[in-house]
Amino acid sequence: MKQYAMVIDTRLCVGCGACVIACKTENQVPEGLHRDWVVEETSGRYPDLRLEIRSERCNHCLRPPCVSACPTGASHRDEESNLVLVDSNRCTGCKACMAACPYAVRYVHPRGYVDKCTFCNQRLASGLEPACVAVCPAHAMSFGNLHNPLSRVSRLMRGRAAKTLVPEAGTSPQVFYLL
Ligand code: SF4
Ligand code: SF4
Ligand code: SF4
Repeated sequence: MKQYAMVIDTRLCVGCGACVIACKTENQVPEGLHRDWVVEETSGRYPDLRLEIRSERCNHCLRPPCVSACPTGASHRDEESNLVLVDSNRCTGCKACMAACPYAVRYVHPRGYVDKCTFCNQRLASGLEPACVAVCPAHAMSFGNLHNPLSRVSRLMRGRAAKTLVPEAGTSPQVFYLL
């Protein structure tokens, strides 16, 4: 059993948006919709300001409320990989999962089902990294199995403090931001 995770270095991200373009191309995300995006957040007071740039997407939560909210079983968590996925054939487009997700990462595909980041499972099956990770020119993103202590993501998590988004939601997100 794997625990796939993404570890993103907020000190390296330059906000170029290559991850967004790569995802749209790789996953044929329809016009006007996105599986990932870049957020710029300033904190502090002048002149002590800090700018954090984050590439965000579905967090493939270990306790995903989108899955428990889904009445048809379309939204599910793959036990082997811990990926949270949507079976488009079982999805009725009721949007219960969208209401339950604290991260607003899902959208309705023009074909009527709900869609979102899959951690590029089609690429993982071929031994490739997710498209957004592979294309990042700043090498700000890493992807791998947290159950393997020798993986790059495990080493990064041991070496630096990290945060997740909206931790108070109790969803156990698997996208980590190195501080
Ligand atoms: Fe579900 Fe939202 Fe967590 Fe993704 S980020 S697994 S859609 S609750
Ligand atoms: Fe499940 Fe689809 Fe409804 Fe979401 S929109 S809760 S995936 S049936
Ligand atoms: Fe898009 Fe794949 Fe990156 Fe998810 S992992 S944001 S589907 S490119």
